[in-house]
Amino acid sequence: MTLTTSEVIICPCGEQFIAPLYSSINVSEEPELQEKLLKGEINKVICPRCRETFFAGRFLLYHDMEKNLMIWMAPKVEGVSQDDNRNVEIERRIQALQKRYV
Ligand SMILES: [Zn+2]
Repeated sequence: MTLTTSEVIICPCGEQFIAPLYSSINVSEEPELQEKLLKGEINKVICPRCRETFFAGRFLLYHDMEKNLMIWMAPKVEGVSQDDNRNVEIERRIQALQKRYV
């Protein structure tokens, strides 16, 4: 089953927007998703303000019924540490915004 959820994305520029993210793709039902995945287009989002393109996905379940294949895909290790840095940066920005509005 292919599943998407609408999630709030926070760009490093501070912009918040909602984008549909895949948490599970079934390439037997939707073969075009495999091509999208190979091109790196799954869970790629574009910030509407600064046009920055980045990956917002965390974990993705890849399901190929014909090949009897089910794979959990996790972000690359470098990507994880980058995300961690980014999360810290976002937290800092949120704190700064909170201070501004208090
Ligand atoms: Zn942005």
